[in-house]
Amino acid sequence: MVIVQKFGGTSVGDLDRIQNVANRVSKTLKEGHQVVVVVSAMSGETNKLIAYAEHYTATPERSELDMLLSSGERVTAALLSIALNAMGHPSISMSGRRAGIVTDSVHTKARIESIDPSIMHAELAKGNVVVVAGFQGVSEAGQVTTLGRGGSDLSAVALAGALEADLCEIYTDVDGIYTTDPRIEPKARKMDQISYDEMLELASLGAKVLQNRSVELAKKLNVNLVTRSSFSDAEGTLITKEENIMEQPLVSGIALDKNQARVSLGGVIDRPGIASDLFTRLADNSVNIDMIIQTLGHDGKTNLDFTVPKTELIDAQTIVEQFVAEGEISEASYDENICKVSIVGVGMKSHTGVAAKAFQTMARENINIMMISTSEIKVSMVIDEKYAELAVRSLHSAYELDK
Ligand code: ADP
Ligand code: ASP
Ligand code: MG
Repeated sequence: MVIVQKFGGTSVGDLDRIQNVANRVSKTLKEGHQVVVVVSAMSGETNKLIAYAEHYTATPERSELDMLLSSGERVTAALLSIALNAMGHPSISMSGRRAGIVTDSVHTKARIESIDPSIMHAELAKGNVVVVAGFQGVSEAGQVTTLGRGGSDLSAVALAGALEADLCEIYTDVDGIYTTDPRIEPKARKMDQISYDEMLELASLGAKVLQNRSVELAKKLNVNLVTRSSFSDAEGTLITKEENIMEQPLVSGIALDKNQARVSLGGVIDRPGIASDLFTRLADNSVNIDMIIQTLGHDGKTNLDFTVPKTELIDAQTIVEQFVAEGEISEASYDENICKVSIVGVGMKSHTGVAAKAFQTMARENINIMMISTSEIKVSMVIDEKYAELAVRSLHSAYELDK
């Protein structure tokens, strides 16, 4: 079999842990498989590099950031390859570019456009283990790009797709996907299986155990995806098609996203096209908008609230202030002390009262809900960040996920 194994930051956090990874890869090789390994930077490394850049300016050029950040993954790829060679397993490390990963040129959150796996195939055919630096690719213009935070998961899934691998294993510091972050709720339970759609919602709503775009791609390419621990032999969680799962619970999990900020606009000129103008300009500057609430206008003015990732608040603020200067908006305020808690489950499609229970739970804990949004399989609420953990634990027990 061809197996792609991805090891995250904590799994390669120091030299002993990289040796531990080499031992795992060695075991898979001895079982007779061909292995392509994808690695992250050592834990904390990417944040450290970002802090270095921000020492000089709050807004470093994104292309320079990519040049900087992509170095972290190259260090681990080379070290792992050196360790494997030292154990007698012929191995070669590659940057994203050498692995054939071509992206668009949206620096720091580039999208993969194509992968040419021919060099990887040639190295595998020679009997080499191929170790690829995750999180990175190269733009058509030849510049190094990165794929967004947590992007090594996406590298792994994309390579598994391009190589037509039989299995893509994501090794991390927990032994699978839990009903909620086990670091927040120790009573969280590990799931044996979860559908692509539910995992996609959990990941998009803040469960960073898998990067959301990696799940989206796994679904599209039908990649067999397993999440498991690099520190134990426990069986992981299979992420698969909904129809492969026998019994669907009403609610599968609770997600928490602390990387959100709220923008509140007052005195917005109530004219056709204002929302289009504002959100187009935000989109043109790659600001991701999540929830939007517009209240009923009066006196030709209205109020508009929306959320953006905290890291994009600076960009959003710059644009909003242009509208304020142009007289289209009279006041704007920004709140970083919020978070979003969400409940996710495909079972919600066919049941009523699921959202009501979430609101009752918040009411019982005296937590004020600032914004709500729902879809077929999720309910999200924006609340004060100081209640984040309390909200997660109360919802987890309200839906009996600990049982
Ligand atoms: P890696 O460095 O291996 O990519 P991450 O830190 O990105 O690992 O993701 C693993 C972390 O995700 C876990 O340590 C856990 O705290 C967190 N997490 C959040 N939600 C969940 C969940 N539902 N199930 C498992 N882990 C979760
Ligand atoms: N090192 C990158 C990050 O911290 C990518 C990854 O770990 O997946 O976001
Ligand atoms: Mg990760």
